[in-house]
Amino acid sequence: MVNASCSQNAITPELLEFGRWFFAQSCDFVLGVQNLSDLPVADLPEIAFAGRSNVGKSSLINALTNRLDLARTSKTPGRTQQLNFFSLINRLYLVDMPGYGYASASKTQISAWNSLLRTYLQGRPSLKRVYLLIDARHGLKPSDIDIMKLLDVCATSYQIVLTKVDKITPEDCQHLIQDIEGALQQHPAAYPYVLATSTVKSQGIDVLRAVIAQWVEPEQ
Ligand code: GDP
Repeated sequence: MVNASCSQNAITPELLEFGRWFFAQSCDFVLGVQNLSDLPVADLPEIAFAGRSNVGKSSLINALTNRLDLARTSKTPGRTQQLNFFSLINRLYLVDMPGYGYASASKTQISAWNSLLRTYLQGRPSLKRVYLLIDARHGLKPSDIDIMKLLDVCATSYQIVLTKVDKITPEDCQHLIQDIEGALQQHPAAYPYVLATSTVKSQGIDVLRAVIAQWVEPEQ
């Protein structure tokens, strides 16, 4: 494919078409990882989705992959606190990270998640980028900033993706994007541009597919 470091402005019609094709292929649950010793071999490029619980992560993964219930896999009891790996035709791993920010989460749970995430983020050279989902109605919350700082410390590249932008006006969305892009200047591992999506309005889904498809290696 194209150089994955190209900017958002470089999304061409060809890349949009490749993203549409790529995400229409099969996407299968591979495994859930609770212990880092269980991670699959890092032989494919990998991207991950992170976000507060209820941010719309499952809906977005389902919309990207054209499934009604793919991400329900990650919501089945016992799988909510693990890294859930999906394979897109053996060319890309999509990792659904545990939702954070539960009001009811105990300190022990939070510290267990943080330690799993930190070890994963620091030791996974095939992890190309984390897409950090932010609810457009709420903007950046303290728990989001905590994750951003963790990603900065781990030097893991990440990009902010707004969800549920249908819930705010286009003007408010523009202001929110400007505010967040301003705040990102303090975060060294952040990609400087914010994406806006809505699964309800199918907005931004095609662009996000193209953005992610940039990480797919050309076939040998
Ligand atoms: P998760 O906990 O992050 O996986 O979140 P879900 O995908 O389960 O979504 C949480 C709630 O937000 C559900 O009620 C969804 O229907 C709703 N939701 C998700 N995406 C959107 C969106 O783009 N627009 C609107 N209006 N609601 C959404």
